[in-house]
Amino acid sequence: MKTDLFVIGGGPAGYNAAKRAAEQGMSVVLAEERRLGGVCLNEGCIPTKSLLHAAKIFDQGKKAADFGVAFDGGGRSSMPWRPRTRTGWLPP
Ligand SMILES: Cc1cc2nc3c(=O)[nH]c(=O)nc-3n(C[C@H](O)[C@H](O)[C@H](O)COP(=O)(O)OP(=O)(O)OC[C@H]3O[C@@H](n4cnc5c(N)ncnc54)[C@H](O)[C@@H]3O)c2cc1C
Repeated sequence: MKTDLFVIGGGPAGYNAAKRAAEQGMSVVLAEERRLGGVCLNEGCIPTKSLLHAAKIFDQGKKAADFGVAFDGGGRSSMPWRPRTRTGWLPP
């Protein structure tokens, strides 16, 4: 096979190089031995941010009652929101 550019590795460095070269009109072949996207897409940036976000939601969920949000454990939730003052919830 004849090609202008052969990129080894489909992580952010590799796929950006391949994309830029292709945009310039070069014929490009990219070889990836594991999963396209490299560390960033498959293990690093994206999964860790997703995990951090899930942990944040879980942590906030533990304080939900403080904000008038209730979960019944069966996937249902309610938010009978009432304004709260320093001395407690205002009556409905
Ligand atoms: C936990 C964690 C969190 C991170 N969070 C961030 C973030 O928030 N922001 C940020 O900017 N960066 C973050 N990073 C860093 C980011 O993941 C890396 O900077 C980025 O992945 C580097 O890209 P790369 O293409 O140079 O290498 P890699 O992503 O490692 O990709 C290299 C690719 O080449 C392939 N390869 C290697 N040898 C061969 C071969 N001989 N033949 C075929 N394929 C081959 C590999 O399988 C791999 O897919 C994080 C990293 C980690 C570990």
